[in-house]
Amino acid sequence: MYLPYHCRAMSFTRRKTRQISVGSVAVGGDAPITVQSMTTTKTHEVDDSLAQVYSLHGAGADIVRITCNTVEAAEGLAEIVPRSPVPIIADIHFQYRLALAALEAGVDGLRLNPGNIRKPDQIRAVAREAKDRAIPIRVGVNAGSLDKELLAKHGGPIPEALVESALYEIGLLEDEGFDLIKISVKHSNVPLMVASYQLLSRKVDYPLHLGVTEAGPPPGGLIKSVAGISTLLLQGIGDTIRFSLTTDPVEEAKAGRQLLEYLGLRERRGVDLIACPSCGRAEVDVFKVAQDAQEAFEKEKLPIQVAVMGCVVNGPGEAREADIGIAAGRGRGHLFIKGQVVRVVPEAEMVDALLDEARKLAEEGVEARLAAADAGAGEEAAEEAALLLDLRGDINHTAERKAAVAEVVQAGE
Ligand code: SF4
Repeated sequence: MYLPYHCRAMSFTRRKTRQISVGSVAVGGDAPITVQSMTTTKTHEVDDSLAQVYSLHGAGADIVRITCNTVEAAEGLAEIVPRSPVPIIADIHFQYRLALAALEAGVDGLRLNPGNIRKPDQIRAVAREAKDRAIPIRVGVNAGSLDKELLAKHGGPIPEALVESALYEIGLLEDEGFDLIKISVKHSNVPLMVASYQLLSRKVDYPLHLGVTEAGPPPGGLIKSVAGISTLLLQGIGDTIRFSLTTDPVEEAKAGRQLLEYLGLRERRGVDLIACPSCGRAEVDVFKVAQDAQEAFEKEKLPIQVAVMGCVVNGPGEAREADIGIAAGRGRGHLFIKGQVVRVVPEAEMVDALLDEARKLAEEGVEARLAAADAGAGEEAAEEAALLLDLRGDINHTAERKAAVAEVVQAGE
């Protein structure tokens, strides 16, 4: 299989953390950064819940969290966990007994909210049971549900308050000899979220679960999540992530996965579609072609970058780093690989031709597909680009610039 340039992961210096296992998925240490999401179904509706777990897995989630808010939910977990394609974490609020019930149900991890399970004896009881079963616990602090005493002490949900809450709970777990811990200190305010994790990362070496809580619906929720999570990941902080979006959770799993791929932190498994923003020079409706291409490539597992460019004058050059692309000429599309035109196709066939060639490229590699280029495609494309340049003008003023350069050179002779 051809491994394109865009598959190569960038390397960031990652903060050293301990590694724990959530079922079969390693979190922390040198394990790949993982994507988490959460179901929105009623847990006791087992078939619906499992169907959503499968959808989340398909969209990129490595681990799925499910609420365990009732006895029926815990019973549902007992059916869901053995049939799930990914490890399942039970989300626990208020009732520590439901944490014990979830452990009985066989979950791969627990999330406890220190803000609403306050009694030390209860936390210790859960820690002992989780320790016996080697099941990890996330200490999931949330700015919106901080303990009232901490809020009063710090005057609000500031990073110091969130971190103190996490450290207090970790202390209780450690007292029981429990250290299969990961931590989150989520805030809905992006700068405060970033500051909370930065502060926490200086105090502990447990793996960290990143997220902007209650981020809201897209696009605002997406932007907040990307801003907070990326800032930390690029500083080497973070071992697992969740986008908390007010939308179908499949979208948050997809977004989490894409973010890691775009940052070079996970291998690319789907197409990275780039497209020019269009301008007055465009020879085609770029928005439509890009949309059609996005739909055509959506289900393809091709780890390549694909470009859709509105004109042949600038398109192939500007997108020469893309693995493959198409640029619009007059009623035709110029299909290019690494900036070299390999075929010229009718405008109506642009997206189909792009998909067809992309599949072959992923299978055979750049050299083979350049060798299979249509005879004369390069010359034909160059002629059309030159013609369009004459017709539409040189927006980059290349000719004028060349003349100016020549003048400077002559003046110096
Ligand atoms: S590729 Fe062409 S159409 Fe697209 S933005 Fe650049 S100049 Fe405009």
